[in-house]
Amino acid sequence: MNWLSNITPPGIKKMLRQLDDGNDNKLWTKCASCGEMVFHKDLEAAQHVCPACNHHMAINATQRLCGLFDDGNWDKIELPDVVADPLKFRDEKKYTDRLKEYRRKTGEKDALTIGAGKIDGVDTVIAVQNFAFMGGSMGMGLGDGILKAAQEAVFRKAPLVIFTASGGARMQEGILSLMQMPRTTIAVQMVKEAGLPYIVVLTHPTTGGVTASYAMLGDVHLAEPGALIGFAGPRVIEQTIREKLPEGFQRAEYLNEKGMVDMVVPRAEMKKTLSGLLRVFMRHGVKAAEMPDNVTPLPVMTAPDGEAAETGAEVSDKDALDKAAE
Ligand SMILES: [Zn+2]
Repeated sequence: MNWLSNITPPGIKKMLRQLDDGNDNKLWTKCASCGEMVFHKDLEAAQHVCPACNHHMAINATQRLCGLFDDGNWDKIELPDVVADPLKFRDEKKYTDRLKEYRRKTGEKDALTIGAGKIDGVDTVIAVQNFAFMGGSMGMGLGDGILKAAQEAVFRKAPLVIFTASGGARMQEGILSLMQMPRTTIAVQMVKEAGLPYIVVLTHPTTGGVTASYAMLGDVHLAEPGALIGFAGPRVIEQTIREKLPEGFQRAEYLNEKGMVDMVVPRAEMKKTLSGLLRVFMRHGVKAAEMPDNVTPLPVMTAPDGEAAETGAEVSDKDALDKAAE
């Protein structure tokens, strides 16, 4: 604390803190990529994508969920309570104080927000990681949140979509944060065993233990343009292998070219793309489950036309579901 902050009256300090905390009060936002000043109304209308250079700025979970669910209507699913600060960790600050600070800044309990609602009429559970909450780090709270989201999806017979953004495991929880990797993997398995689709949307940045677990286990992987996606950061890799990395390494477009990401989807087209995918996935699931038991399976290979071939595929889907249920 310097001499200036010592003599600043508390009222002014509070005002400065509020300006510092949220972007909501800002009239103009400077694009971090091209430097263009964008008016807040224009920025909101463009879902926080720079109109000049198409740079996708960070948005909070609520803004994202409101933009995806029909008419902005969704139910918030509360995160489960977990033991706070089991290791009594302290660096420059106590971990509990750090948690309190981020809870105050973001208004959220941890780095995950779960919502349930409809995307173009399809019931869906969406979990969004919030990078503004301790770098979206994965601790016990987030692990339990992912499990909760998966349980909710299975309970509602709805697909699960996760928007990832994380620096990796939360170091303040040590080994307990690493244990969230197998736990979240089990959560994904639960959704798959229920025959429900699991879609991952990788946003900037998705790294570390999150990339090494649930972020890479989707049926489909979408990514926002320009998102950094990887395990270790580019600088660490360059130092380790002592080689210059190629242009755009670990960026969404590069990974799409190499096959690690299925589609790079601009924010403006995200809802349309998700709804298209969910409709294809869910129509199959619903038809197979509703099919009566006495239907004779059609031979898929010898089916004379497209329609019969499709019916055959549904029957085999049903067989797979029955097997999973046994
Ligand atoms: Zn820009």
